Amino acid sequence: MKYKDKYIIANWKSNVQTITEAEEIINKGLELGDKVAHYTVSAPFIYPLSAKYSPVIGSQSVSQYEGGSHTGLYTAQQTKNAGATFTLLGHSEERARGMSDADINLSIENALKQDLYVCLCIGERVRETSEIEIKKQIDESLNGLEEELNTNKIMLAYEPVWAIGSGALRPATDSEIIETVNFIKNYIKTQFNLNEETKIICLYGGSVDSTNIENILNLETVDGILIGRASSDLSEWSKVVDTLK
Ligand code: PEP
Repeated sequence: MKYKDKYIIANWKSNVQTITEAEEIINKGLELGDKVAHYTVSAPFIYPLSAKYSPVIGSQSVSQYEGGSHTGLYTAQQTKNAGATFTLLGHSEERARGMSDADINLSIENALKQDLYVCLCIGERVRETSEIEIKKQIDESLNGLEEELNTNKIMLAYEPVWAIGSGALRPATDSEIIETVNFIKNYIKTQFNLNEETKIICLYGGSVDSTNIENILNLETVDGILIGRASSDLSEWSKVVDTLK
C-alpha cells in the first residue's frame, strides 16, 4: 500500500471523444481501489457519466457566475446536481483563455457553497519568477477563504506552466517540485494564519506518465498527482494504473 495516502486526479482536458472510451478509462482507474487515497477524473462532459460514476467524476471548472446568460460555462450548482463531487479550478489552460484570479476566487466560493471539493491549480509561467507569480495567484484566488482552507475542502496542485501539456519544455526536476510544493504549503499556512493542525494538500502536475509517476509520488512532500495527457490515452493510462497497483 505504498501510495494509500496519495491523491490521483486525471485531467482529460478536451480529449476522450466517446462514452465507450471514457468508461474503459474510468474503469481501468477504478482498479486502483484503496491502493490510493482517492482517484478522480476531471471529465470534460460531466452530464452523461457523473451520476453513474459519482464520486469519481469531477469537472474541469465551474463558472464564476451562479447562473444567467453565460454560454459555455457550467455553474457549480449544475455540476453538483449532475453528480460531480469536485472541480478543478484555475487550470493554466483556462487562465490562458482569460480567467483571472478574481474570477477563480468567485468560482471557488461558488463550488464550496455547493459542497464540491476544489483542486486549485497554481504555477508559474517562468521558473525564474516562480515565487512572485505563485504568491500573487494564492493571495488573489484564495482571498477571504481562510476558514475554508482550515476545513480541507480546498487542495492545491502545483502545475508549472512550462511543464504542462503538448508545449511542455520538460517535466520539473525533483528539487524544483519539492522546493515549490513546500513553498506553497508554508506560504498559505502563514499568509492565512491557518490553524496549527491544518494540513495543506498539494499535488504536482506536469508531464507525468508511467515512466516518472512513481518517482514523483515518492517525494514525501507531494500529496498526489494531477495527470493530464497520460490519463486520457487508454494504453498509457493502463500502464500508469498497473504501475501503482
Ligand atoms: C494538466 O493538464 O493538468 C497536466 C498536468 O497536463 P500534462 O500531464 O499533460 O502535462
